[in-house]
Amino acid sequence: MYVTPEKIRKLADEKGYIIVAHNYQIPELQQIADYLGDSLQLARIVTRIDAKKILFLGVDFMAEVMKVLNPEKKIIVPVRYSTCPMANSLTVEDVLKYKEIYKGVPVVVYVNSRTEVKAVADVVCTSANAVDVVKALDSDTILFGPDKNLTSYVAEKTGKNIIPIPGETGYCYVHNYVKDSEIKKMMSKYPNAEVMVHPEVPKNIRNLAHFIGSTSQMEKYPASSKANEFIVVTEVGMPAKLEKLYPDKVFIPVPSMVCYNMKKNNLRNTYLALLEEKIEVTLDSELIAKARKAIERMLEITEGAERSERKVVKSA
Ligand code: SF4
Repeated sequence: MYVTPEKIRKLADEKGYIIVAHNYQIPELQQIADYLGDSLQLARIVTRIDAKKILFLGVDFMAEVMKVLNPEKKIIVPVRYSTCPMANSLTVEDVLKYKEIYKGVPVVVYVNSRTEVKAVADVVCTSANAVDVVKALDSDTILFGPDKNLTSYVAEKTGKNIIPIPGETGYCYVHNYVKDSEIKKMMSKYPNAEVMVHPEVPKNIRNLAHFIGSTSQMEKYPASSKANEFIVVTEVGMPAKLEKLYPDKVFIPVPSMVCYNMKKNNLRNTYLALLEEKIEVTLDSELIAKARKAIERMLEITEGAERSERKVVKSA
Protein backbone atom coordinates (compact mmCIF):
# COMPACT_ATOMS: atom_id res chain seq x y z
CA MET A 1 0.00 0.00 0.00
CA TYR A 2 1.47 3.37 -1.05
CA VAL A 3 0.69 6.05 1.53
CA THR A 4 1.35 9.75 1.09
CA PRO A 5 1.22 12.40 3.84
CA GLU A 6 -1.78 13.93 1.99
CA LYS A 7 -3.68 10.63 2.19
CA ILE A 8 -3.21 10.51 5.97
CA ARG A 9 -4.22 14.13 6.37
CA LYS A 10 -7.41 13.55 4.36
CA LEU A 11 -8.37 10.49 6.41
CA ALA A 12 -7.71 12.30 9.69
CA ASP A 13 -9.96 15.17 8.59
CA GLU A 14 -12.72 12.81 7.43
CA LYS A 15 -12.68 10.95 10.76
CA GLY A 16 -12.34 14.07 12.94
CA TYR A 17 -8.87 13.34 14.33
CA ILE A 18 -6.33 15.96 15.39
CA ILE A 19 -2.76 14.79 14.74
CA VAL A 20 -0.28 15.57 17.50
CA ALA A 21 3.40 14.69 16.96
CA HIS A 22 6.60 14.85 18.96
CA ASN A 23 9.59 16.83 17.64
CA TYR A 24 11.57 13.59 17.06
CA GLN A 25 9.14 12.13 14.50
CA ILE A 26 10.24 11.71 10.88
CA PRO A 27 9.80 14.93 8.80
CA GLU A 28 6.93 13.42 6.72
CA LEU A 29 4.94 12.91 9.95
CA GLN A 30 5.93 16.32 11.34
CA GLN A 31 4.52 17.75 8.13
CA ILE A 32 1.00 16.36 8.68
CA ALA A 33 0.77 17.26 12.36
CA ASP A 34 -1.71 19.81 13.63
CA TYR A 35 0.55 20.30 16.64
CA LEU A 36 4.23 19.56 16.97
CA GLY A 37 6.19 19.93 20.21
CA ASP A 38 7.61 18.19 23.26
CA SER A 39 5.50 15.76 25.26
CA LEU A 40 4.23 18.06 27.97
CA GLN A 41 3.68 21.04 25.64
CA LEU A 42 1.50 18.78 23.52
CA ALA A 43 -0.44 17.23 26.39
CA ARG A 44 -1.24 20.70 27.68
CA ILE A 45 -2.27 22.12 24.31
CA VAL A 46 -4.62 19.16 23.86
CA THR A 47 -6.39 20.14 27.11
CA ARG A 48 -7.25 23.44 25.42
CA ILE A 49 -8.65 22.16 22.12
CA ASP A 50 -12.17 20.94 21.42
CA ALA A 51 -11.29 17.82 19.45
CA LYS A 52 -12.39 14.58 21.07
CA LYS A 53 -10.14 12.30 19.01
CA ILE A 54 -6.35 12.49 18.93
CA LEU A 55 -3.82 10.53 16.88
CA PHE A 56 -0.57 10.75 18.82
CA LEU A 57 2.85 10.20 17.23
CA GLY A 58 5.64 9.64 19.73
CA VAL A 59 6.43 6.91 22.30
CA ASP A 60 4.19 5.24 24.86
CA PHE A 61 4.93 7.25 28.02
CA MET A 62 4.16 10.46 26.06
CA ALA A 63 0.83 9.08 24.84
CA GLU A 64 0.08 8.22 28.46
CA VAL A 65 0.91 11.76 29.68
CA MET A 66 -1.58 12.94 27.08
CA LYS A 67 -4.20 10.53 28.44
CA VAL A 68 -3.50 11.51 32.07
CA LEU A 69 -4.17 15.18 31.25
CA ASN A 70 -7.01 14.40 28.83
CA PRO A 71 -8.79 11.33 30.23
CA GLU A 72 -12.05 12.10 28.41
CA LYS A 73 -10.43 12.11 24.95
CA LYS A 74 -9.89 9.13 22.67
CA ILE A 75 -6.15 8.80 21.98
CA ILE A 76 -4.88 6.35 19.39
CA VAL A 77 -1.31 5.50 18.32
CA PRO A 78 0.16 3.64 15.31
CA VAL A 79 2.33 1.16 17.24
CA ARG A 80 1.60 -0.36 20.62
CA TYR A 81 5.24 -1.02 21.53
CA SER A 82 6.90 2.23 20.55
CA THR A 83 8.47 2.69 23.95
CA CYS A 84 11.35 4.50 25.70
CA PRO A 85 14.13 2.39 27.28
CA MET A 86 15.09 5.24 29.60
CA ALA A 87 11.54 5.64 30.92
CA ASN A 88 11.41 1.88 31.47
CA SER A 89 14.71 1.86 33.41
CA LEU A 90 13.06 3.15 36.60
CA THR A 91 10.46 0.93 38.27
CA VAL A 92 7.93 1.53 41.03
CA GLU A 93 9.92 -0.94 43.17
CA ASP A 94 13.08 1.16 42.70
CA VAL A 95 11.30 4.33 43.82
CA LEU A 96 9.74 2.64 46.86
CA LYS A 97 13.13 1.15 47.82
CA TYR A 98 14.85 4.56 47.68
CA LYS A 99 11.98 6.22 49.55
CA GLU A 100 12.45 3.66 52.31
CA ILE A 101 16.21 4.34 52.51
CA TYR A 102 15.89 8.14 52.27
CA LYS A 103 12.79 8.70 54.37
CA GLY A 104 11.15 12.10 53.83
CA VAL A 105 13.35 13.03 50.85
CA PRO A 106 11.27 14.35 47.92
CA VAL A 107 11.16 12.25 44.75
CA VAL A 108 11.31 14.15 41.45
CA VAL A 109 10.78 12.16 38.25
CA TYR A 110 11.45 13.30 34.74
CA VAL A 111 8.40 13.30 32.47
CA ASN A 112 10.26 10.55 30.55
CA SER A 113 9.16 7.92 33.09
CA ARG A 114 6.44 5.29 33.36
CA THR A 115 3.00 6.51 34.44
CA GLU A 116 3.10 4.09 37.40
CA VAL A 117 6.36 5.73 38.53
CA LYS A 118 4.87 9.22 38.30
CA ALA A 119 2.06 7.95 40.51
CA VAL A 120 4.50 7.22 43.39
CA ALA A 121 6.61 10.38 42.91
CA ASP A 122 6.12 13.73 44.63
CA VAL A 123 6.57 15.86 41.55
CA VAL A 124 7.27 15.52 37.82
CA CYS A 125 9.66 17.73 35.86
CA THR A 126 10.66 18.28 32.24
CA SER A 127 14.15 18.97 30.91
CA ALA A 128 13.05 22.61 30.54
CA ASN A 129 11.96 23.09 34.16
CA ALA A 130 13.97 20.46 36.13
CA VAL A 131 16.27 23.09 37.64
CA ASP A 132 13.35 25.32 38.70
CA VAL A 133 11.40 22.41 40.18
CA VAL A 134 14.37 21.18 42.23
CA LYS A 135 15.25 24.71 43.40
CA ALA A 136 11.65 25.24 44.56
CA LEU A 137 11.59 22.17 46.81
CA ASP A 138 12.26 22.80 50.47
CA SER A 139 14.97 20.14 50.78
CA ASP A 140 18.70 20.09 50.08
CA THR A 141 18.59 16.40 49.20
CA ILE A 142 16.44 15.17 46.33
CA LEU A 143 15.85 11.75 44.78
CA PHE A 144 15.83 12.27 41.00
CA GLY A 145 15.39 9.90 38.06
CA PRO A 146 15.62 8.20 35.73
CA ASP A 147 18.16 10.17 33.65
CA LYS A 148 21.59 10.24 35.31
CA ASN A 149 22.86 12.95 32.93
CA LEU A 150 19.94 15.29 33.62
CA THR A 151 20.53 14.51 37.32
CA SER A 152 24.15 15.69 37.14
CA TYR A 153 23.12 18.81 35.18
CA VAL A 154 20.48 19.69 37.80
CA ALA A 155 22.97 19.07 40.63
CA GLU A 156 25.45 21.44 38.95
CA LYS A 157 22.82 24.15 38.50
CA THR A 158 21.21 23.94 41.94
CA GLY A 159 24.12 22.94 44.18
CA LYS A 160 21.79 20.46 45.91
CA ASN A 161 22.59 16.86 46.80
CA ILE A 162 20.76 15.06 43.99
CA ILE A 163 20.67 11.28 44.31
CA PRO A 164 20.17 9.59 40.92
CA ILE A 165 17.62 6.78 40.78
CA PRO A 166 18.07 4.09 39.48
CA GLY A 167 21.67 5.38 39.06
CA GLU A 168 24.11 4.34 36.32
CA THR A 169 21.47 2.40 34.33
CA GLY A 170 19.23 5.43 33.82
CA TYR A 171 20.01 7.24 30.57
CA CYS A 172 18.76 7.87 27.05
CA TYR A 173 20.90 5.83 24.63
CA VAL A 174 20.47 8.49 21.92
CA HIS A 175 22.01 11.24 24.07
CA ASN A 176 24.28 9.22 26.36
CA TYR A 177 26.39 7.56 23.67
CA VAL A 178 27.16 10.58 21.47
CA LYS A 179 30.94 10.92 21.21
CA ASP A 180 32.75 14.21 21.79
CA SER A 181 35.00 13.27 18.81
CA GLU A 182 31.91 13.33 16.54
CA ILE A 183 30.84 16.77 17.81
CA LYS A 184 34.40 18.17 17.61
CA LYS A 185 34.67 16.94 14.01
CA MET A 186 31.42 18.75 13.16
CA MET A 187 32.66 21.89 14.93
CA SER A 188 35.78 21.84 12.70
CA LYS A 189 33.65 21.35 9.60
CA TYR A 190 31.26 24.18 10.56
CA PRO A 191 33.52 26.65 12.42
CA ASN A 192 30.85 29.38 12.55
CA ALA A 193 28.16 27.13 13.96
CA GLU A 194 26.99 27.34 17.56
CA VAL A 195 26.48 24.06 19.41
CA MET A 196 23.09 23.53 21.08
CA VAL A 197 22.90 20.50 23.37
CA HIS A 198 20.14 18.76 25.28
CA PRO A 199 20.77 18.25 29.02
CA GLU A 200 20.33 14.47 28.57
CA VAL A 201 23.91 14.36 27.19
CA PRO A 202 26.90 13.61 29.47
CA LYS A 203 29.01 16.40 30.95
CA ASN A 204 31.87 16.11 28.43
CA ILE A 205 29.37 16.97 25.67
CA ARG A 206 27.72 19.73 27.71
CA ASN A 207 31.19 21.28 28.03
CA LEU A 208 31.26 21.82 24.24
CA ALA A 209 27.95 23.73 24.18
CA HIS A 210 27.17 27.34 23.43
CA PHE A 211 23.65 26.63 24.66
CA ILE A 212 22.16 23.88 26.86
CA GLY A 213 18.40 23.41 26.79
CA SER A 214 15.35 21.24 26.21
CA THR A 215 13.79 20.97 22.75
CA SER A 216 11.30 23.69 23.66
CA GLN A 217 14.17 25.95 24.75
CA MET A 218 16.09 25.11 21.56
CA GLU A 219 13.11 26.46 19.64
CA LYS A 220 13.66 29.90 21.18
CA TYR A 221 17.43 30.18 21.32
CA PRO A 222 18.18 30.88 17.58
CA ALA A 223 16.02 34.02 17.76
CA SER A 224 18.40 35.56 20.28
CA SER A 225 21.63 34.33 18.67
CA LYS A 226 23.60 36.13 15.97
CA ALA A 227 24.79 32.78 14.58
CA ASN A 228 23.32 31.48 11.33
CA GLU A 229 24.41 27.86 11.73
CA PHE A 230 23.72 25.52 14.63
CA ILE A 231 24.87 21.99 15.40
CA VAL A 232 21.84 20.43 17.07
CA VAL A 233 22.97 17.85 19.63
CA THR A 234 19.74 15.97 20.20
CA GLU A 235 17.66 13.49 18.22
CA VAL A 236 17.98 13.92 14.41
CA GLY A 237 14.27 14.84 14.06
CA MET A 238 14.67 18.20 15.78
CA PRO A 239 16.44 20.16 12.98
CA ALA A 240 13.39 19.73 10.69
CA LYS A 241 11.28 21.53 13.28
CA LEU A 242 13.89 24.30 13.69
CA GLU A 243 14.21 24.80 9.92
CA LYS A 244 10.50 25.49 9.77
CA LEU A 245 10.76 28.06 12.55
CA TYR A 246 13.91 29.75 11.18
CA PRO A 247 13.98 29.27 7.39
CA ASP A 248 16.97 31.66 7.07
CA LYS A 249 19.18 29.69 9.46
CA VAL A 250 20.88 26.30 9.05
CA PHE A 251 20.46 23.44 11.53
CA ILE A 252 22.85 20.52 11.34
CA PRO A 253 21.82 17.16 12.83
CA VAL A 254 24.27 14.80 14.55
CA PRO A 255 24.00 11.68 12.33
CA SER A 256 24.49 9.12 15.12
CA MET A 257 21.62 10.50 17.26
CA VAL A 258 18.67 8.44 16.09
CA CYS A 259 15.89 7.23 18.40
CA TYR A 260 14.74 3.98 16.81
CA ASN A 261 11.74 3.89 19.13
CA MET A 262 10.47 7.23 17.81
CA LYS A 263 11.11 6.06 14.26
CA LYS A 264 8.77 3.05 14.62
CA ASN A 265 5.98 5.35 13.47
CA ASN A 266 5.88 5.65 9.69
CA LEU A 267 3.43 6.76 6.99
CA ARG A 268 1.98 3.27 6.52
CA ASN A 269 1.27 2.39 10.17
CA THR A 270 0.00 5.93 10.84
CA TYR A 271 -2.50 5.56 8.01
CA LEU A 272 -3.56 2.13 9.28
CA ALA A 273 -3.97 3.52 12.80
CA LEU A 274 -6.51 6.02 11.49
CA LEU A 275 -8.20 3.47 9.27
CA GLU A 276 -8.61 0.81 11.96
CA GLU A 277 -8.65 2.94 15.18
CA LYS A 278 -7.58 -0.17 17.05
CA ILE A 279 -4.65 0.86 19.27
CA GLU A 280 -6.16 3.09 21.88
CA VAL A 281 -4.37 4.38 25.01
CA THR A 282 -6.25 3.30 28.11
CA LEU A 283 -5.31 3.84 31.77
CA ASP A 284 -6.91 2.95 35.06
CA SER A 285 -8.71 5.99 36.58
CA GLU A 286 -6.94 5.61 39.94
CA LEU A 287 -3.56 5.60 38.19
CA ILE A 288 -4.56 8.69 36.20
CA ALA A 289 -5.50 10.53 39.40
CA LYS A 290 -2.22 9.69 41.17
CA ALA A 291 0.05 10.51 38.22
CA ARG A 292 -1.88 13.70 37.56
CA LYS A 293 -1.22 14.89 41.11
CA ALA A 294 2.58 14.79 40.55
CA ILE A 295 2.21 16.57 37.19
CA GLU A 296 -0.05 19.23 38.70
CA ARG A 297 2.47 19.82 41.49
CA MET A 298 5.03 20.62 38.79
CA LEU A 299 2.60 22.99 37.09
CA GLU A 300 1.96 24.78 40.39
CA ILE A 301 5.71 25.20 40.99
CA THR A 302 6.43 26.44 37.49
CA GLU A 303 3.23 28.42 36.96
CA GLY A 304 4.98 31.71 36.15
CA ALA A 305 7.47 30.15 33.78
CA GLU A 306 4.80 27.99 32.16
CA ARG A 307 2.67 31.05 31.39
CA SER A 308 5.45 32.43 29.24
CA GLU A 309 6.01 29.04 27.60
CA ARG A 310 2.55 28.69 26.13
CA LYS A 311 3.63 29.25 22.58
CA VAL A 312 3.33 25.78 21.09
CA VAL A 313 4.18 25.69 17.42
CA LYS A 314 1.36 24.79 15.11
CA SER A 315 2.85 23.15 12.07
CA ALA A 316 2.26 24.60 8.62
S1 SF4 B 1 15.12 10.00 22.46
FE1 SF4 B 1 15.77 8.92 24.33
S2 SF4 B 1 14.41 9.66 25.94
FE2 SF4 B 1 13.45 10.17 23.97
S3 SF4 B 1 12.10 8.42 23.52
FE3 SF4 B 1 14.08 8.00 22.50
S4 SF4 B 1 15.19 6.77 24.02
FE4 SF4 B 1 13.53 7.75 25.14
